[in-house]
Amino acid sequence: MLIGFDIGGTKIEVCVLDHDGRTQFKQRTPTPKSYDQFVETVVGLITQAEAQVGESCQVGIGLPGAVSPATGLIKNANCTFLNGHDLQADLAGASGKIIHIANDANCFALSEAVDGAGKDGAVVFGAILGTGCGGGLILNKQVWGGRNAIGGEWGHNPLPGYSAAKDGPVRPCYCGRDNCVEQFISGTGLEKSYTIKTDQKLAAPEVIALMREGDALATECYQQMIDQMGRSFAALMNILDPDVIVLGGGLSNVDELYRDLPQATLPYLFTDVADLCFKKAEFGDSSGIRGAAWLGR
Ligand SMILES: [Zn+2]
Repeated sequence: MLIGFDIGGTKIEVCVLDHDGRTQFKQRTPTPKSYDQFVETVVGLITQAEAQVGESCQVGIGLPGAVSPATGLIKNANCTFLNGHDLQADLAGASGKIIHIANDANCFALSEAVDGAGKDGAVVFGAILGTGCGGGLILNKQVWGGRNAIGGEWGHNPLPGYSAAKDGPVRPCYCGRDNCVEQFISGTGLEKSYTIKTDQKLAAPEVIALMREGDALATECYQQMIDQMGRSFAALMNILDPDVIVLGGGLSNVDELYRDLPQATLPYLFTDVADLCFKKAEFGDSSGIRGAAWLGR
């Protein structure tokens, strides 16, 4: 069987999947505050999970961060005490097991590609449209991390075809660049667009609710975001042409996206006819941990 970990800033979740994808064990615990405690906690959970299912398991870990291909050390993790450590080696040493580690967006995409909304596709792109805009690329049911471990980091491309007239003022990104895709096509991006137009602060679900009621400015913000999504997905498709694009995160619950995205994307593609497949994630919030477990298969 397969153990998957989902590492968050406040909690660690662990699950055991059997080879048919059924959950055999699940547990969550608060995230420890130091690196040594973290290693100890994860090893303890592996022992507990294996005792519970009565067999030795493969172990995969999904975290918001990456293993640097240059050094093997964790970088960009939001649990900052992990950064700069050789987590793979330390966990392997302490547990005596092989440990697979991947970025949580890659785990999301893998979960959906193995037995979720992308299970029929050979090339699957998973896009998490939440607070930010993460992405993961899966080729033949394997994570494609890339030479520099940036495969799928499409949220930090510059928004294609940006113009102040269409997209409003320049939006700086925390990564140090301007006008990254995630500054526009995320829950946060939609909230910013609404504030720019109205000078009011509203959460993304409230903007969507207003749009559904026919509010003119909320509709304008939605239409602008759909066009920005169209440009962003077209840029991806002109390179990859994936079989399926699976959407996760808060915005993926906006059902209108699946109606509107194909026609918003087509004008920016290098083809006049296209079979575009946008699907909603099948496993929702469980995709990350399921994908982590599938890393070890
Ligand atoms: Zn950025």
